[in-house]
Amino acid sequence: MEKQHDVVIVGGGLVGSSLAIALEASGLDVALLEATPAGELPPVFDERNLSFAETTCQALAGLGIWPHLRSASPIRRIHTTRQGDFGRVLMRADEYGREAFGHVVTASDFGQALEARIETIGNLTRYRLARFVGTTFAENGWRQVAMTLDGEPRHLQTRLLVGADGMQSAVREALGIDVQQHDYQQVLFVCRVRTSRPPDGTAWERLGAHGPTALLPRLDRHYGLVHGVAADKADEVAALDEAAWLDRLQTAFGWRAGRFLAAGKRSRYPMRRVVAERQIAARAVLLGNAAQSIHPLGAQGFNLGLRDALTLVEEISRHGLDAPQMLEHYLTRRRQDRERTLSFSDGLAKISANPSLGASLLRSIGMTVLANVPGLRGQVAAGGMGYRGDLPELCRGVLQ
Ligand SMILES: Cc1cc2nc3c(=O)[nH]c(=O)nc-3n(C[C@H](O)[C@H](O)[C@H](O)COP(=O)(O)OP(=O)(O)OC[C@H]3O[C@@H](n4cnc5c(N)ncnc54)[C@H](O)[C@@H]3O)c2cc1C
Repeated sequence: MEKQHDVVIVGGGLVGSSLAIALEASGLDVALLEATPAGELPPVFDERNLSFAETTCQALAGLGIWPHLRSASPIRRIHTTRQGDFGRVLMRADEYGREAFGHVVTASDFGQALEARIETIGNLTRYRLARFVGTTFAENGWRQVAMTLDGEPRHLQTRLLVGADGMQSAVREALGIDVQQHDYQQVLFVCRVRTSRPPDGTAWERLGAHGPTALLPRLDRHYGLVHGVAADKADEVAALDEAAWLDRLQTAFGWRAGRFLAAGKRSRYPMRRVVAERQIAARAVLLGNAAQSIHPLGAQGFNLGLRDALTLVEEISRHGLDAPQMLEHYLTRRRQDRERTLSFSDGLAKISANPSLGASLLRSIGMTVLANVPGLRGQVAAGGMGYRGDLPELCRGVLQ
């Protein structure tokens, strides 16, 4: 007899782990499959710095994850400029009656916090080192899930299969769902940097011809740096020694944070947008990066994926797992947030990297308008804080 679970989540990354935690209160029997061995954090919990929107912070508090975080550093101001264009935009959280727009957390710290919280869950079975292989239907109409567990083939049955297995989703492929892709021809370098002016709660974003250079405030007197480079220059940049790397950053960013003094280990990420053409199939749903992987400029990927996960939990509790319309309701509720967030991130990535004079003028005018029209700034700020579309209650600070 194959083992049965109400919900099988494939992928114990940021979104899959959050979903497993959010399902605790439902009392459902949940399984979490992860391709990383027990005792290790999945590689996605690396040194990248994650900006969590206000709605995300509220939800993480409601889910009991927040108290486990050690590194949450508030973003009180966001300062944006572009090399070669006039105009700047400074947004202050206190203008909107808030102490912070959101918080910066290192992915490794977030992984440990999720792990600490998951250990307290009773109704969760974890399969590690488990690799999802494929899915068909069982005779009872449930999904059958094929996986390897420690290299041995195993099967499970489930009423709902959730693909939270990231950009290269094997679940998406097994469901026969196509993707639309775009290569931004850009590589993002990420590392920790120390400058002569320590962080004061300002997140700095400097847009350059080949992408952004951003400094995110951290609690350890360092900044989390993101630096975009044209793809064909990435190897050259990766080979720079520390002094040349710091020089490059100084030129790209300028002096607003003082002199660049030291940098930690560099990681690099090729930038691609991968968007699934459908997010649901019979008894199956894609969440997070499996559904949409977006450019990190704008810092929306996990924020959006968490809203996917929490909306799914609400729709399960409203309609039950077996109601055929449950996933349709989920889709309807997610449409507006997904469309707006995708076009926001994509637009930002493309416009920031377009060096033409026309684009430069438009951007400069856009910056000036944004800097001076409070209603428009308010809309941008609200979107950045995660207030888009039909929000799940936990994101609004309503406890379960
Ligand atoms: C440089 C950078 C900066 C970013 N900054 C931000 C930010 O500031 N704010 C923000 O909101 N987002 C940010 N993001 C985006 C964020 O990292 C992603 O949105 C997030 O990781 C998506 O989570 P996920 O769980 O959907 O996928 P992932 O985190 O990729 O997790 C997928 C999991 O599935 C597992 N898996 C894969 N295949 C299988 C299989 N066959 N079987 C079993 N398990 C499998 C993997 O091991 C992994 O653990 C950033 C991304 C990058 C690259």
